[in-house]
Amino acid sequence: MNHMLNEATLWRNGALIDGRWLTETPHGSYGVVNPATGEVLCSLPRCRESETELAVEAAARALVDWRKTTAGNRSEIVRRWYDLIVEHKQDLALLITLEEGKPLTEALGEIDYAASFVQWFAEEAKRVYGEVIPAPRHGQRILALRQPVGVCAAITPWNFPAAMITRKAAPALAAGCTMVVKPATQTPLTALALGELALRAGVPAGAFNVLTGDDARRIGSVLTSHDLVRKITFTGSTEVGRVLLRQAAATVKNCSMELGGNAPLIVFDDADLDVAVEGILNAKYRNSGQSCIAANRIFVQSGIHDALAKRLAARTRALKVGNGLEDGVQIGPVIDEAAVIKLERHLADAVAGGAQVLVGGSRHDLGGSFFQPTVVTGVNRAMTLAREETFGPIMPLVRFETEVEAVTAANDTMFGLAAYIFSRDAARIWRVSEGLETGIVGVNTGLTSNEVAPFGGVKQSGLGREGSRHGIDEYVELKYVCWAGL
Ligand code: ADP
Repeated sequence: MNHMLNEATLWRNGALIDGRWLTETPHGSYGVVNPATGEVLCSLPRCRESETELAVEAAARALVDWRKTTAGNRSEIVRRWYDLIVEHKQDLALLITLEEGKPLTEALGEIDYAASFVQWFAEEAKRVYGEVIPAPRHGQRILALRQPVGVCAAITPWNFPAAMITRKAAPALAAGCTMVVKPATQTPLTALALGELALRAGVPAGAFNVLTGDDARRIGSVLTSHDLVRKITFTGSTEVGRVLLRQAAATVKNCSMELGGNAPLIVFDDADLDVAVEGILNAKYRNSGQSCIAANRIFVQSGIHDALAKRLAARTRALKVGNGLEDGVQIGPVIDEAAVIKLERHLADAVAGGAQVLVGGSRHDLGGSFFQPTVVTGVNRAMTLAREETFGPIMPLVRFETEVEAVTAANDTMFGLAAYIFSRDAARIWRVSEGLETGIVGVNTGLTSNEVAPFGGVKQSGLGREGSRHGIDEYVELKYVCWAGL
């Protein structure tokens, strides 16, 4: 398959440890599967405990010099990484579509998004300022230094194979940390290509390592317990996040967590319906609904409910489903059979509870893990569809009457990542934005993610923020120096 790339050497067939490619381990290999075709794209070596230890030790050795480089030097190297990612955008996007399934246009968009963090943090590298604090006593100076946390371990999901890595690795490297990445089992190829480009950019051997393998538990158990690892940064499910937090507690590691969501999207009677329709389609169907900020519950006020449902149904019916490499495809497959089974379970529960399917409602004729984009009305708060993160192309509509009712229902979840509201009433927009218990609010838009804004959740959706000037704080410790006798 690597003949499909412009540059075949971006298709790596081993783990990246200490600047070298490890193509064999004593534990054998596993296959990376294209979810659109079921085809095995390639085999990669299984890393387990011992390989993870090697990567951590390499990161600790690389840290000694990397943390001492100047901010300007790190900035230049991270910036070169950005340039190379942009230069190889087509190949990286192709890898994403092959291993993850999203349409190629979306994969290209993901590379722009992923690269924007690398560019941003190359710039932020130069702005990790400390403080001089007015001293409470004569003859003293009070300083606060900002120093790199140290060796970081990143565990990332399959839904954004490039961006979920660059959002972590770029600020870490910029701050002077080194990193071991364990990408999702399903999507290692993009991560390995990013590793190859990092080496070419001048990131020193050992400063950025990528482990391959299909036993996340074995790798994760070392990353969360090893004394040399000072930080765990994770994006994935709340369930796994809790496990990692528990494991990391034994050695009191610094943790950043981007966990699950159950995003409410509220459309009020006073919304511009054209804007709302576009916003909902963006917030729901990007990556076939497989995003932690995907609108999971769509609350529609009574006065516009039927008209909006009709328009959403028509737009959903017109979506082109298929292999992401084909022209014009808007919805790819979901990641695997388990994901399809979850969609079926959520829908069956809703239908049994009285919900009506307006469009779609079952597997797609294309077979495999293709599912029909689906609109369901008559959904209520008790249904699984509204309680759990569905992670697929199902759009559940919940009718509501009052603003208070909508906000109360929106907050009725343990999650608090993103929310969306559509309205033209400024006072209402303020009230509702402030009342929603989430880390992110989109107002009259379904697209909120960019490198300049702080991304992250409250409640059980996570700890910490990625992107923005705050994103680098996750990789920096404050050290207080009290200097007396002056
Ligand atoms: P998703 O639903 O996106 O697959 P997961 O939380 O299951 O979310 O997976 C996110 C990442 O966490 C993946 O890289 C996966 O391999 C990894 N992972 C899953 N279980 C564990 C575990 N017990 N320890 C460490 N990593 C894990």
